Amino acid sequence: MADRLTDIGPPSHDKFLPPIIKENYGKWKRHEIPRPGVLMHTSESGQKLWSVRAATPRIASTKTIRLFAEIADEFSGGYLRYTSRNNVEFLVTDESKVAPLIERCKKEGYPVGGIGNSITNIVHTQGWVHCHSAATDASGVVKAIMDDLFPHFEATELPGKMRIAFACCLNMCGAVHCSDIALLGVHRRLPAIQHDQMNKMCEIPTTVASCPTGAIRPSTVDGNKSVEVIGDQCMFCANCYTVCPAMTLNDAENDGLSIWVGGKVSNARSEPMFSKLAVPYIPNEPPRWPSAVKTVKKIVDVWIANARKYERLGEMINRIGWPKFFELAEIEFTKYHIDDFTHAGLTFKTSAQVRQRAE
Ligand code: SF4
Ligand code: SF4
Repeated sequence: MADRLTDIGPPSHDKFLPPIIKENYGKWKRHEIPRPGVLMHTSESGQKLWSVRAATPRIASTKTIRLFAEIADEFSGGYLRYTSRNNVEFLVTDESKVAPLIERCKKEGYPVGGIGNSITNIVHTQGWVHCHSAATDASGVVKAIMDDLFPHFEATELPGKMRIAFACCLNMCGAVHCSDIALLGVHRRLPAIQHDQMNKMCEIPTTVASCPTGAIRPSTVDGNKSVEVIGDQCMFCANCYTVCPAMTLNDAENDGLSIWVGGKVSNARSEPMFSKLAVPYIPNEPPRWPSAVKTVKKIVDVWIANARKYERLGEMINRIGWPKFFELAEIEFTKYHIDDFTHAGLTFKTSAQVRQRAE
């Protein structure tokens, strides 16, 4: 690889590859799952690598990171990596260390699983813990949901893979656009503009330029240089609030979350798919989020009962049809399910072929 010309950005990943991965780069022949939570790769040379996956709470303390480093030093030559869904994977080259490593992880309170036909850790965003534009919490809801789905993390008895994502606003720092089940925080009220603060806290041209839909324009309100928002154009994304704290979007009464289904990144069997809207709004219900947990559990149960072997949720829905899925999952069809975005016409069914469903 050519020398980097700047020191901007992360260092090249190949500096950190474990020797076995460097030696066998591009030469891995096959993989199998010898037990839940363990992925065994075999290379053309016959060398084997066991990746042992443990769930983490994502927002980890220094103490937790030090513990993982200590476990890696003891069992995997100091090598570990994080998956995109916030699992930690220890990369083991000595098979005799796999079982004791799993025991140690469990003893420390970090369950091993989430590989293959299971529900892996939920990738999620910051929530109320950190981010200013959160419409809902992240860690709290994910904890409540995963408490219910946990048996599916440790086993591999599901029809296929089930990947769940959570983002606490539609800036979407999580993979909600392409997960089997996605929960997405939604604001439902226009930014509340503090006109007398605009000039002190915000730069008006930057605020106007921050809006992806062009909904903000300069305006003078009560003698203050400020902005106004064109309601019909606002999609409640909170981009303006990010650059201008005087345009608060958080609303304790009306914020909540929505549920999207059927996305996937994988191109196995069928093309990658975007998630589509299933439930437009569920109110925020801390600390145990009963409606969100119940809805996700119901969708998972419908998938388990109806999916064919290896079928992802979106593939199953395409096979049985969206009306049937809504019926099975007991989800009400509302006006919010009708896509009215400018380019929605491209997604509408335009052929004259109609299939009648026998009741
Ligand atoms: Fe913040 Fe939105 Fe990202 Fe959540 S999804 S962390 S609210 S920007
Ligand atoms: Fe524009 Fe988003 Fe602000 Fe609405 S919330 S005005 S769409 S930047």
